[in-house]
Order: sequence, then structure tokens, then C-alpha cells
Amino acid sequence: MGYKITLIPGDGIGPEITEVVKNCIDATGADIEWDIQEAGECAIEKYGTPIPEKTLKSIEENKVCLKAPLTTPVGSGFRSVNVHIRQYFNLYVCLRPLKFYEGVRSRYSNIDLVVVRENLEDLYAGIEFQHRTKEAEELIDFIKKSTGNTINKSSGISIKPISVENSEKIVRFAFEYARKNKRKKVTAIHKANIMKFTDGLFLDVARQVAKEYCDIEFEDRIVDNMAMQLVQKPELYDVLVCPNLYGDILSDLCAGLVGGLGLSPGANIGEDIAVFEATHGSAPKYKGLNRVNPSALLLAGFMMLDYIGESEKALKLEEAMAEVIKEGRYLTYDFRDPGDTNYVGTKEMGDAIISKIKSKK
Ligand code: NAD
Repeated sequence: MGYKITLIPGDGIGPEITEVVKNCIDATGADIEWDIQEAGECAIEKYGTPIPEKTLKSIEENKVCLKAPLTTPVGSGFRSVNVHIRQYFNLYVCLRPLKFYEGVRSRYSNIDLVVVRENLEDLYAGIEFQHRTKEAEELIDFIKKSTGNTINKSSGISIKPISVENSEKIVRFAFEYARKNKRKKVTAIHKANIMKFTDGLFLDVARQVAKEYCDIEFEDRIVDNMAMQLVQKPELYDVLVCPNLYGDILSDLCAGLVGGLGLSPGANIGEDIAVFEATHGSAPKYKGLNRVNPSALLLAGFMMLDYIGESEKALKLEEAMAEVIKEGRYLTYDFRDPGDTNYVGTKEMGDAIISKIKSKK
């Protein structure tokens, strides 16, 4: 069966890594019709917006999208196009697998962690009150009246909503993911000792949901302790389920354990729509230089193939990339030590991966 998938080449280095990744996915034999759409800075001149209606409609219809990085334009109405897409389609899960591939420069090896991050709530809800505005002052008065707490009059305020519904959905997703992928343990991350009504709620819900999954071990960790533990003994952890902010920070920490953002893919998943992306940005200084690592977007493509049910082709893609990294001949600059000029370009690394894929047929 063929699939129609929205493909957003994006900004900066986006188009060159997209071309390589599209060719690698096509080489697996996956029957995909790519519906190429614009978003980001490159869309503004033509459509007057970084996220044209046409692009949103394509994602809505096709239900699956592979998206290269987008530059967040300064001074437009959008805080971030990426955040807009997540909120518009209610993509409440951010799934980030962080896996070590042999041959990558890293202080660690054998790491295979998955961060499941709530994607819509918490301090990212975008509900903020600018300092010294009428609204901020009214809120400060209300808090004084209703709780007795005094907030400095010159404070700016960001609201941290965490709901029962979204906490339950994200924790359930983490357990279902663990079960489907034969993972052994889910760890809930929080700061419930301090934020009892938000992180405390998240933890309570996690404990309730965990009771339905007796086949999977459950534990919780306070976020600051978790950051230290991940650096000292990452091998003790498996699937981490987190509210939005802690998930954002810990997933970058875990990316650092496996060789950096160049190897870190992500998926934004809702009830029936999913957007797959590299987690690095558009690296404008490398635009058009055929220099950057295509692996993060390639791994996003691997996740996408798995999501649409093409698991064998997904595995073929991942194995081909892993073999190229292990052999160490056709790798981009970021795999090398500083000063080592023995590297190839984005396209050449992609061509080496395509050769490996073809040799598996
Ligand atoms: P960035 O990730 O684009 O680049 C930071 C540095 O990381 C680069 O200079 C480069 O040294 C390295 N790097 C990034 N990707 C790489 C790759 N594939 N291979 C090798 N090295 C790589 O971060 P930034 O400079 O802070 O952001 C640039 C733009 O990207 C901003 O407009 C930002 O808003 C946007 N951004 C978009 C996304 C997204 O679309 N998901 C994510 C983060 C940032």
C-alpha cells in the first residue's frame, strides 16, 4: 500500500538534509508519495506567513509529516512555527529516542534511552504576564487575596498548567510504548516535593496509571537527581516520562550522552497525526555548504517508517546508517575530532548509506 506523506524541507540546512533523507527512505523501497510543502522563513515572502494554510491542510489530510528544521523568524506573530504545529494539531507527545551508535564520538557507550515528553502544557503553554502590566498587577493582587502570598510588584509571571487528562495520556503513551518495544522500566520525572499541585498531580496520575501495567517496572525520580543520575549511571534507565520542561532539558542532556543533536530525532504525536523531525535547528551558517550530518533527520525518517507500519524498511534504514557510522569512512565533520579534516559532505554520507541499503536487498 502506498503512503502520501507531507515533506517540509524547511530553512537553512533543511533542504540539503531533506534531499539526502528522502533518497535514503526511497532506497528502502517504501512506497511513498512525497507531498512537498513550505514552512518557516522561506514561506514568509511567498505566503506572508511562516506556516501557510496549504501546509497545515496537507498535514491534516496526509496525517504524517517529515519536517526539516525551521528558522523561527524574529518579529512575526508566531513564537515558534514548531510550537504552533504542535498546538494546532494537538500533538501531545514528544518522543525522543536517544541511542548510542558504535563509532560516534562520546564519553558513553551502550546507551539506549527514550524520553517521552508532554508537549503542550507546563511552562510551554505560552500563558505569560509581562511585568508592570495591568494584567500582571491584577494577578498579583488576586494571588495575595486568595493565598496570602506576596509577589514582588515588578514580577513577570509564567503560568504552569498541568492537567489530569494530559498527564494520564502521556504516561499511558509511555507505558504502551514500553510494552510495544519490549522495554522494561518507566521512570516518571518531577519536582513534586516543591510543586505539589502540578508536578505532584503528574506523579499521582503516573502512579495510578502504572498500576495497570504490572509487566513493566515503574519508579519516579526528582528531576535534579535524575540529571545527575543520567550523567553517572545512564545504563540504569530505560523510558523516561516527563512534563514538558523537564523533558526538554533531559532529552538534550541525553542527546549529549549519545553524541549530540546531530544524532537526535524526535516525533510529535497526537491521536491521529504525527510530525517527525530532527531536533537540531536550521544551522544557517552551514546553509548550502554540503557539510552537516543528516543522521538526525534520517533517524526521524526511521521513526516515521516504523509509525506507518513499515518496520522492516525502518530497520533497514537504521542498520545502514549504523554500519556507515561504525565503518567510519564516510562521515561528516561532526563525527571527527576538532582539526581532523578527514570528513565527507552530507550528500556523500547519504550516498554511502544508500549503498548499504541497496546491498541489503
Ligand atoms: P542549530 O541546532 O541550528 O545549530 C547550532 C549548531 O549545532 C550549529 O552551528 C552546528 O554547529 C551544530 N549543528 C546543528 N545541526 C547540525 C547537523 N545536522 N550536523 C552537524 N552540526 C549541526 O541551533 P541554533 O543556531 O540555535 O538555531 C538556528 C535556528 O534554528 C533558529 O532560528 C532556531 O529557532 C531554529 N531551530 C529550529 C528547530 C526545529 O525546527 N525543530 C529546533 C531548534 C532550533
